Amino acid sequence: MIQAERSYWESELYDQKYDLIVIGAGLTGQSAAHFYKQNHPEAQVLVIDRGFFPIGASTRNAGFACFGSPTEHMADLKIEKESKIIDRIQRRFNGLQLLRTTLGDENIEYCEPGAYEIFTDEGIYAKAVEQLPVFNRWLYEAAGVEGVYQATTHNGFKAVSIKHEGCLHPGKMMRTLYHKNLELGVEFRWQINVQMIDQEQKILWLDNGIELYAAKLVVATNSFTSKLMPEVDIKPGRGFVFVTKPIKDLEWKGTYHFDAGYYYFRGVGEDRFLLGGARSLDIDVETTMQFGTNAKIKYHLLEFANNVLKLPKCWEIDREWSGIMGFTPTKSPIMNALSKDVVLVAGLSGMGVALGMQLGKEAASELD
Ligand SMILES: Cc1cc2nc3c(=O)[nH]c(=O)nc-3n(C[C@H](O)[C@H](O)[C@H](O)COP(=O)(O)OP(=O)(O)OC[C@H]3O[C@@H](n4cnc5c(N)ncnc54)[C@H](O)[C@@H]3O)c2cc1C
Repeated sequence: MIQAERSYWESELYDQKYDLIVIGAGLTGQSAAHFYKQNHPEAQVLVIDRGFFPIGASTRNAGFACFGSPTEHMADLKIEKESKIIDRIQRRFNGLQLLRTTLGDENIEYCEPGAYEIFTDEGIYAKAVEQLPVFNRWLYEAAGVEGVYQATTHNGFKAVSIKHEGCLHPGKMMRTLYHKNLELGVEFRWQINVQMIDQEQKILWLDNGIELYAAKLVVATNSFTSKLMPEVDIKPGRGFVFVTKPIKDLEWKGTYHFDAGYYYFRGVGEDRFLLGGARSLDIDVETTMQFGTNAKIKYHLLEFANNVLKLPKCWEIDREWSGIMGFTPTKSPIMNALSKDVVLVAGLSGMGVALGMQLGKEAASELD
């Protein structure tokens, strides 16, 4: 860290009270900054992130633009009331429309190549099919769309097709939003960890010794929130993903779900394949904020790709990575006005592509 006293000019530049500081430059934080600045063009808005670029989940996810698979809904029904689930489907559906209209489908490579949940267990399939009328009603109530889930077969598997689900390029999504924010005049500071905040005075202490002052504050630190606010019940959940080198005769070109959303796979570009998930295999170890690969999970996903999905022989991983999600006890995100000037928005679990921009926008309007 560079130690230097501040010049007269630097203090004119930097010793100011920002109108809004957002902690966390993921999709949620940058969306909060975006909509606040759009509504308050004169406001000085600053976004701070501890990464060289946002480093949590927004640039490390699988790019599913989705609102729930049948077995995910079945699992949710065990922990939440139906009305809460319908409300979340509505938020996901509307959130995706907002994301697409704000950033533009071409900029984020949005497409709908066909979506399915696939099944290997006859009993679970029968239960899911029995529930499809209920899930179709939910989608109709939440989004006004009919016949979203249909029983079918796909690539030799019993399956349920999912209308209106799509996918996108998370890197391009974040880059487009960042450029839109720069155009609006939002400021960014990268590679600075916020160590502590005084919620009443809205003072931030950074790990380089600098203090910052804000009139309003949005905390959008997702899985890392408990480091700043230990009282907030958000547990980290690490997710593992890989993308293959091009595979000739790849049959899995759509977006796919398996086992309550714990496994997800999709085509990428013309001929690459992405596979991720299986956190459920080693859930305690994966309840961590540390990036890294769990060999057991990786091995299991390789077996799944070869023995269940039967990828053509001799495929290779091109790149593998992990990202950290933030889970609340019910999976419903936290959107909490801690005071009239401080909003916490975090805990988006595995749904943040759909929810992040909508929640960021809501956080911004809480501060109006
Ligand atoms: C492997 C994986 C696959 C996923 N797949 C999908 C998917 O296909 N579809 C979907 O909808 N969702 C998916 N998700 C979930 C989705 O990516 C997240 O819900 C969403 O990106 C959360 O966005 P966020 O902005 O709230 O949080 P994040 O993107 O995690 O951003 C939080 C930011 O806060 C910063 N930060 C934290 N603490 C501090 C601090 N003290 N000081 C400064 N900065 C700080 C971090 O560096 C980070 O950049 C996936 C997640 C993972 C990990």
